[in-house]
Amino acid sequence: MADLAENETRLRGLPVSPGVAVAKVCLFRDSGRHDKVPRRKVSGEAVAQEKERIERALAIVIGRLEALEKVTASRIGPAEAEIFLAQRMMAQDQQLVGRIVEAVDGGDNAETAAMKVLDSYESQLAAVDHDYLKERASDIGELKHRLLDALLNTAPSFLCETEPHCQLGRNRIIVTEELTPAVSLQIDTHEVRGIVTARGGTTSHAAILARATGIPAVSGIPDAPKRVSCGTEVLVNGDTGEVVVWPSAKTVADAKAQARRRADAVAAPVEGLVVMANISLASEVGDAVAAQAEGVGLYRTEFEFFAAGRLLSEDEQAERYAAVVETMGGQPVYFRLLDVGGDKPSPLFDTGREENPSLGCRGSRYLLSRPDLLKTQARALVRASEGGTVHVMYPMVVGLSQFHEMRQVFDEATADLAKGDLRHGVMFEVPSACLEAEDLLGAADFGSIGSNDLVQYLFAVDRGNERVAHDYSPDRKVFWHLLGDLGATAERAGKPLSLCGELAADPTHTARLLALGIRSVSVSVRHIPAVRRAAQTAMARSLP
Ligand code: PEP
Ligand code: MG
Repeated sequence: MADLAENETRLRGLPVSPGVAVAKVCLFRDSGRHDKVPRRKVSGEAVAQEKERIERALAIVIGRLEALEKVTASRIGPAEAEIFLAQRMMAQDQQLVGRIVEAVDGGDNAETAAMKVLDSYESQLAAVDHDYLKERASDIGELKHRLLDALLNTAPSFLCETEPHCQLGRNRIIVTEELTPAVSLQIDTHEVRGIVTARGGTTSHAAILARATGIPAVSGIPDAPKRVSCGTEVLVNGDTGEVVVWPSAKTVADAKAQARRRADAVAAPVEGLVVMANISLASEVGDAVAAQAEGVGLYRTEFEFFAAGRLLSEDEQAERYAAVVETMGGQPVYFRLLDVGGDKPSPLFDTGREENPSLGCRGSRYLLSRPDLLKTQARALVRASEGGTVHVMYPMVVGLSQFHEMRQVFDEATADLAKGDLRHGVMFEVPSACLEAEDLLGAADFGSIGSNDLVQYLFAVDRGNERVAHDYSPDRKVFWHLLGDLGATAERAGKPLSLCGELAADPTHTARLLALGIRSVSVSVRHIPAVRRAAQTAMARSLP
């Protein structure tokens, strides 16, 4: 944060999704995969071949769009899924398809014909003096890229510009020319802090998705991606449409105070469900307090390292952890031990190049391969426990013997330190750990379900791959049975169990979690009010 107001640059755009966010920028740009598309003239038999290619490509695109419709409807909502329905209707529009085929008859190869026709539709729509239709021009643009992907067997790959630890917008404000549905599906919208786009209005995809997922967003900042770089700090004010580059401390404080006044968002704790906050940095703990979080249920400590861009010493860690314990003033804080590797690769940690990182050196397995990192963090946590209770969560535990090994390293590393109240718990993210829940909960002080990874490993479906996203869903009976079994096992063992994956942030699941006996969840701060409201409604319904 800059100290002086004169260092800041104020830009004005269109407020498209309310709320205020301050974070570093993650710059997204198209990797330009269709900059050099093969264009050639065809004649004779080749014309029929090109027509077949178009037909096949359209069938692929339609199939993919149907899958996207389904996954968006279940992950975000039916209204948002209509984005893909609209694109599918275009791909099935006889007039549009007829014009592509005509262009092939005229001697264009499939790629040239698709580009010519779709470019001309796009520019006609963009020129119409009607906001909604203008914005639909981007659907045509996206359909063109989908068709070219199917013809050329390419895939969209949007790159974080420079910083590898930037992690596709996690904890950052995404700045991009235009947030297309394809990019939106690559980012974990639960983790993004804000969105700034050069193009797109209130009915653009970025706006619809941002509002659906509660992300503050501003659009219509011309050349937005050219005005900042990866790592630039910006403030996004989705209430006023202002974007401030390198905001001063005063600007940040004023905007946050204003947003707090506007929001009717703070929902007081409700009886029957403890709702805690997920945080990634000690500096976010103030937001948790402002939202009346009943604790920090997941502190993803690895992000402190990513944000610093280097390994943190024992003193540096102890200072951050103690600050969180102190600020939470007696409310529980669950510190997750460094969880790197898998979907959280970082050059800071030598997980190495792996064929299959999700099944490789990650979580507790990685920490056992780097006891030096585990020992340093253990010492820092023990020091923080002098200020209040410290819950230590062990990530990606695969079974009892691994948990014992981790505990042993922890205890040996901290044997010489004075200890406060320390509790050790297991994250249930791997099916084998769930099958051993009775033993694990017998040995641990508590459990926490990491549903993001549990869904991934239970159904063998990559949580970060949009091509299989239609299969990444908790809406399956076996998954809910598993949650029910974990709840019952925890109850028998007399150990507290919480759920800290994104599933808990979705208010449509709250009643079901309550019905399974889950009485404690941890969600991103901005989802706390909606989850509490859902819990209140569910509880009112279940009253006799
Ligand atoms: C989870 O897997 O559900 C979880 C909370 O951990 P992360 O999303 O950080 O992997
Ligand atoms: Mg996880």
